Amino acid sequence: MVIVGAGPAGVRAAQTLLRYGVRPTVIDEAPLPGGQIYRQGAIARGSARERYGFEWRKARSIHAAGAELAAQADYRPCTAVWNASPGLLDLVREGEIDTLPYTHLLLATGATDRVLPFAGWTLPGVYSLGGAQIALKGQHCLLGPRILFAGSGPLLYLVAYQYARAGGRVQAVLDYGSRASQAKALPALMNQAGTLAKGLYYLGWLRARGIPVFHAARIDAALGAGRVETVRAIVEGAAVEFACDVLAVGHGLRSETQLADLLDCAFDFDDAQRAWLPRRDAEGRSTVAGVYLAGDGAGIAGAAFAELAGERAALAMLTDHGIAVDGARVRALARHQRSLARFRQGMDRAFALPPAEASCGDEVIVCRCEEIRAGALRAAARQYDIDDLNRLKALTRIGMGLCQGRMCQAGAAELLACCREVPLSKIGRLRGQAPVKPLALASLGEAAP
Ligand SMILES: Cc1cc2nc3c(=O)[nH]c(=O)nc-3n(C[C@H](O)[C@H](O)[C@H](O)COP(=O)(O)OP(=O)(O)OC[C@H]3O[C@@H](n4cnc5c(N)ncnc54)[C@H](O)[C@@H]3O)c2cc1C
Repeated sequence: MVIVGAGPAGVRAAQTLLRYGVRPTVIDEAPLPGGQIYRQGAIARGSARERYGFEWRKARSIHAAGAELAAQADYRPCTAVWNASPGLLDLVREGEIDTLPYTHLLLATGATDRVLPFAGWTLPGVYSLGGAQIALKGQHCLLGPRILFAGSGPLLYLVAYQYARAGGRVQAVLDYGSRASQAKALPALMNQAGTLAKGLYYLGWLRARGIPVFHAARIDAALGAGRVETVRAIVEGAAVEFACDVLAVGHGLRSETQLADLLDCAFDFDDAQRAWLPRRDAEGRSTVAGVYLAGDGAGIAGAAFAELAGERAALAMLTDHGIAVDGARVRALARHQRSLARFRQGMDRAFALPPAEASCGDEVIVCRCEEIRAGALRAAARQYDIDDLNRLKALTRIGMGLCQGRMCQAGAAELLACCREVPLSKIGRLRGQAPVKPLALASLGEAAP
């Protein structure tokens, strides 16, 4: 049994398999277990409480479980899965490639930032929100000195708070969500009153320190000669400019689904996440026998849900392998997941994902790797009457670069849907292609017969 990902989902899954006497192989490209939320820096500075805030106990628990993996499982850090085919994974570690057979595979690959283009987003000094947090959590480095936070999602307030607490000069927080939509989400958010309280605490803390928080705000452009100096935003319909050295912008998260795609799992369109997600049953079984999904890689649902989903998927793997599992535990996990799912609906309402801005002018680069601009995409779509993302890819090379569409897919899809005036669900998704992670040709060359 193989698990890809040593975040909350993968770690809890591995721990469950070990408890039933099964020794899994756990692959993760990160050097230490923890995943995105409980990321461990190579050098741990400060106390766990300083690094992980309210979540420090959970972080410690996941790290302790991760340390057990190193002792008891076949744990392979710094190892990326770059290709997947039925029964076999292709791995790369420090340039050396390898293969790994599996009978049961759990994809717990998590998420990355959902990036949407706007004028100036490729200027030096513009970071994704997650990137800004990684600098802080992984490298103990404050971007700045003056940093502006903008976008949508709960991470917006959390990362602004983390920066301000660590001594960063937070200029303002620009929240795409309106106060009215966030108020409407409150009943669903009350399902996890503790988590809601933490969010309100971050907001109150920022306000108490005089950090301005604007609602119904969207970025129009990042401006500057050589690097970002000013950000022009539209706040409740009026243009406002903010001086800054760094802009950290987040438009939600996107699930890492390429491996599921390579394995031919069926996908469905999810309206709330504005994305195609691999289809799975409540226990994490995909539509392909022997392939399971858990955590944010199967749909953004947060770290607490990921832990439960990882354990539940591991129990499903064991059941399918003929090993009897604790039925009461499965039912308890299901109950807890249902409650968290209701909370998630509230989060989706409070932090709706913005579509690619209509103000994304023709000159704006959408695909950084291939330097393809919005105008080229719109022109190709109109000239060839295209309303399918893969055809757009074939004609323009969008998504064919180093990132394989992980950066540009969301923006290109939104632009195409907007330009052709069709629902996002109708334009499809970029088909996954190996290598899903950058791979040196030299590594492949060595493997050639
Ligand atoms: C940048 C970022 C910062 C975040 N910060 C917070 C936060 O502070 N607080 C919060 O509540 N939530 C945060 N989130 C959301 C939170 O991380 C997730 O809800 C939670 O971690 C999901 O757990 P998971 O196990 O599903 O995935 P993850 O924790 O994302 O773990 C997935 C793991 O899979 C590995 N992986 C992926 N693909 C491959 C591959 N091809 N080969 C090998 N390994 C692979 C990754 O290295 C990673 O360690 C953040 C998300 C992101 C993207």
